[in-house]
Amino acid sequence: MEKVALVTGSSRGIGRAIARRLSEDGYAVCINYIERRDKAEELAAEIAAAGGRAFCFQADVSDRAAVDAMAAEVKRRFGPVSLLVSNAGIAGQMLIQDVGDEAWNRYFAVNVEGFRNCVQAVLPDMIHAKQGSIVSISSIWGLRGASCEAVYSATKHAIIGLTRSLAMELAPSGIRVNCVAPGVIDTDMVQVLGQETLDELARMTPLGRLGRPEDIAEAAAFIGGDRASFITGQVLTVDGGFSG
Ligand code: NAP
Repeated sequence: MEKVALVTGSSRGIGRAIARRLSEDGYAVCINYIERRDKAEELAAEIAAAGGRAFCFQADVSDRAAVDAMAAEVKRRFGPVSLLVSNAGIAGQMLIQDVGDEAWNRYFAVNVEGFRNCVQAVLPDMIHAKQGSIVSISSIWGLRGASCEAVYSATKHAIIGLTRSLAMELAPSGIRVNCVAPGVIDTDMVQVLGQETLDELARMTPLGRLGRPEDIAEAAAFIGGDRASFITGQVLTVDGGFSG
């Protein structure tokens, strides 16, 4: 199989750093986005200028037909996906009493069904090739509870459950499935918390700073790549010691 990566939600933040890192590792990369075409195209141009191969594809990962179309377009351009990084996700803070059906369903649709949709879209070719690698992006809030982020935390727990189960189910087909659980990473997602809270979170982190998207990209590139060929079903926490 050629080195072909599909990184969902890679126009910004963690996904962007992962796509860039995988390109440096020799992968042809599909940069997926939902709204920020400008940021996706900026990254594609950056990768092309560095001699890599990338293209952008707009798809809401919760939309099964859109994800199938994306996987088909990757295959047409580069060949079948050999590494899926299911990174696209949404977060937000609310009290459990305020979580209506719409919010509940949207969190699960993007964070959990999005993962399933992408897995199901790339799996037939991976099974056919008897090889492939899948990396999910959970969170430290997928390993423990998070006050005022119950739904987000539940989706991130579900991602870990799916990851571990798929690792067992797909190992006989030569496909590895692992997860990266980031701590607090300095991206657009956490800016809503405000600078004061972010400073406090950095102080609470044993390594004394917030994570950078590149910290997660290194972990994802390692666990998704051939150097981790005997690792499957694992959750790699990358949080500067935050969760102890
Ligand atoms: P971010 O800065 O908000 O970026 C989100 C990315 O996902 C963007 O590229 C966005 O595309 C894309 N996206 C959002 N909804 C999508 C959808 N329905 N379909 C396709 N793409 C979609 O987030 P981030 O901080 O990089 O987080 C990335 C992942 O890491 C998420 O799963 C998040 O839960 C997880 N995580 C983050 C942290 C943290 O502290 N930042 C900690 C733990 C885990 P557009 O640019 O087009 O909007």
